[in-house]
Amino acid sequence: MGKILNPHTLLNICQGLEDTYPFPKGWPNGEWPLSGEFRPHRLEVVVGAVLAQNINWNNAEKALSRMIEKQLVEANQIDRCPQALLEDTIRSAGFYRQKARRLKGIVQFILTYPGDFYSQIRREELLAIQGIGPETADSILLYACDQPHFVVDAYTRRIFARYGLLSEMASYQEVQRFFESQLPVDVALFKRFHALIVEHAKQTCRKIPVCHDCVFQRECGYGRTTAGRPAEIPNPKFQIPNKSKIPNSKSET
Ligand code: SF4
Repeated sequence: MGKILNPHTLLNICQGLEDTYPFPKGWPNGEWPLSGEFRPHRLEVVVGAVLAQNINWNNAEKALSRMIEKQLVEANQIDRCPQALLEDTIRSAGFYRQKARRLKGIVQFILTYPGDFYSQIRREELLAIQGIGPETADSILLYACDQPHFVVDAYTRRIFARYGLLSEMASYQEVQRFFESQLPVDVALFKRFHALIVEHAKQTCRKIPVCHDCVFQRECGYGRTTAGRPAEIPNPKFQIPNKSKIPNSKSET
């Protein structure tokens, strides 16, 4: 569960991150990094969200590039592509058989959706699709559909549990409720904040955190315990939960 906060706390943290990482690599203005080659462009977010399940973004990006090379950039092209060819194309994304099935499942859903998928889709509908968990669904809803759903990933849990604002045992829903209840409902803010969290986890609040170089060292519960020294041992109280229990958790750096 999250703590009750001064309403400005999370915004201050977001601002601190923004000052530290003014242009997160690959996430200009917090937007999902897109090649722009898919049709519609937002389909690339949907495909990328599935490919990024349980792996780091670089490997998902390689798979996206291969899909572009093979002209698998429209929902009906992906739908018609033989399963074996799709698997081979996205091999770099890992779990490629499962992900190929999931891609086919979601593009079939988009193709048969009774209405405009990107403006009308609801969270419960996405969660009912095989292989689409809360993190994938919220990534699609926020970055492809501009709906205000805060995306929770392993990085979010790690940073905010170390900070002392969340229990490491909190469920996806509890963490999401914590952010959504403390922040103004603002799609651009949600996008930017998540992008900054990813950047902070990759650059500073890593598996072994670089607390002496962190803007939050004085406020962060774990940072205070390291008292300006480079941290050599990760917080023994906070272990990243078993990835299989976190839908769509990104791989750790
Ligand atoms: S002070 Fe250390 S543990 Fe806290 S957010 Fe910064 S890097 Fe992470």
